[in-house]
Amino acid sequence: MAAQFRKSAGRTASNSSEQQVDVSCEVPTETKRTALKYCLLLASGLACVIIIYFTMNLKLHQTVSSLKNHLRFGNVASSMCHDIVPLKENYETKKMELLKIEADIEQKILERQLKNQEIKHWAWVSNEAANREMAVGVQLFTSLIRSLERSQAELIGMIDAKQKTTKTQAKGFTQELEQEISALMRRSSSPVTVVGVGRCSSRIYGPAKRQTGHTAVMSSGLLFLLPCLILTPAATLEFRYHNNPEIEQYLLQVNASNPAITHLYSIGQSVRGQQLWVLALGLSPRRHTVGIPEFKYVANMHGNEVLGRVVLLQLIDDLVRGYRNNETWSLQLLNSTRIHILPTMNPDGFDESDTDCQYSQGRTNYNGVDLNRNFPDAFAGLRRQPQLAEQSCEAEVRAVIGWLRTESFVLSANLHGGALVASYPYDNSNGGSELVGGASVTPDDDVFVHLAKVYSYNHASMYKGDICGDSRPFLEGVTNGYQWYPLAGGMQDYNYVWAQCLELTLEISCCKFPPVQQLPALWTDNRKSLLAFIQQVHLGVKGRVFDGSGVPVQNAVVEVKGRTNMCPFRTDRHGEYYRLLLPGNYSFTVTYPGHEVLTETLNVPHGPDRYSAMKHDFMLRRITTSANPTQADPTQASLTPSCDYNLRLEAGGVVPRPTWTGLGAVLGLAAALQSLVG
Ligand SMILES: [Zn+2]
Repeated sequence: MAAQFRKSAGRTASNSSEQQVDVSCEVPTETKRTALKYCLLLASGLACVIIIYFTMNLKLHQTVSSLKNHLRFGNVASSMCHDIVPLKENYETKKMELLKIEADIEQKILERQLKNQEIKHWAWVSNEAANREMAVGVQLFTSLIRSLERSQAELIGMIDAKQKTTKTQAKGFTQELEQEISALMRRSSSPVTVVGVGRCSSRIYGPAKRQTGHTAVMSSGLLFLLPCLILTPAATLEFRYHNNPEIEQYLLQVNASNPAITHLYSIGQSVRGQQLWVLALGLSPRRHTVGIPEFKYVANMHGNEVLGRVVLLQLIDDLVRGYRNNETWSLQLLNSTRIHILPTMNPDGFDESDTDCQYSQGRTNYNGVDLNRNFPDAFAGLRRQPQLAEQSCEAEVRAVIGWLRTESFVLSANLHGGALVASYPYDNSNGGSELVGGASVTPDDDVFVHLAKVYSYNHASMYKGDICGDSRPFLEGVTNGYQWYPLAGGMQDYNYVWAQCLELTLEISCCKFPPVQQLPALWTDNRKSLLAFIQQVHLGVKGRVFDGSGVPVQNAVVEVKGRTNMCPFRTDRHGEYYRLLLPGNYSFTVTYPGHEVLTETLNVPHGPDRYSAMKHDFMLRRITTSANPTQADPTQASLTPSCDYNLRLEAGGVVPRPTWTGLGAVLGLAAALQSLVG
């Protein structure tokens, strides 16, 4: 439009110039007037043409703000049709204005073109950046999605594998149970009672199977069987050799069925990690009751001597069944005694044992150690047995030692096989005053002989003494352990010397692994003696020792005249003492730091008939420091709470009576060192 305007303006200017030249030609006056008139008319006409041209273009220019100056110019030009103005002057002015407007327009067009280019460039840059960001985002999300897909695939794989394993295990358990049920059905003419959920049976104990190293698997199996154990009433206990998991299973079941009178606990683990389960029976099976003595039976210390496992399970079955049926003998025993039963002290040995009557495969624990030679020995000196430290004992032995510290046992028996005799301490000797006529005699020998005879005479044939064709008969079926054959590190000596628990070693069958068909008869042979022996825990006297303030005291020494124990018997943490004695008169001496020595004579009746030892408490009187300045400090009692067996002397010579004050310990140590140097 600007170019058109410029062209038009140029053409108009050119025409005006030509007209001006034509007006100056020489002509006659009339003609000149006429010519002048035409010239003026022509000039006016040209001016009008120009004005009309601008007026026609005015509407177009009104939309462009930069060209609105034309409006003023148009108005002025329009008035020119009516006003007379100097044309050339006006023309030049307008021309200059037009040129200026034209320059402005060109400048603004240029500015906008530059701005437009700038915007286009910015848009391109922005677009490129967005594309790059989009590419990065897409890549990131693609990686994330792939990672999630991989994780999902792995998770599905894991769940799938786990499900397959569980399915296989469940199938194995099911097959095992089905086999056991089939075996039971074959053995019994009576139909198998199926109760509860799924395949739970009231008779789940099948034929004995030797299983070694499958404890963890069987534990899972036990979890699987747990509903059966809870829902099933007491099962009939078969006469056969239950393997270790089956014993665990049976004890769990008995405990679940008789929670009021039983408590199942473990004293530790074997070398191979099998639990050493103990079932406690009594009115208060979970904890000690003052006045109720603690009794224990231990079996299968030698892994291949297995009848003890069978008879102790039968004993448990008998006791709980009798209690449920309100049978007097069971009520009297469980109401008066807390009975602890450890059916197997050496489950690892059992897993390795041979079924032969005499061979010793499986006798030791998994480390090949004879557990009945592994206890700290009172007669072994520092030189011969430097490993007296308990830390070096086998796991099973450490478990029993810990057990003896937890409970204050009064009476105990350890069931073995391969002979028929009741053996009693000592098993060992250092050649001191305890050696009498080939026997190593304890201060409580009369009580031990009585206890051994209670077992042998209540047994079907043990009292006869020559049943197994041994090299020499056991008189009345009893023997002093040392007299039979000396051994060091035995459990019964440890029980007696350090735990003040009278323990016997009962050999209950000529064959170490009797044939299964003999088991019912062997149980019958031992049943009465097992029960009668428990009843002997009520021999003698029991009671508590109270200090000058009337408070029961621990570690008060309770001695009986003429019975000097290597480690004097002391009151336990309840202030209680139990002293197994045959009927008769006994002089008791009670000593406790800070108190006068108390001596009393007691007439002791036969307690077992009444299921209770005679009850007698000792009341001590406090002494003043001025009255006896040499009296030991009361705190010394806690310094030497137990017998320090590291101070025992070597063999030879009389063993001095250990003293339990700090001074005594120093003197004992000096004597021990002297003997070592010598
Ligand atoms: Zn044995």
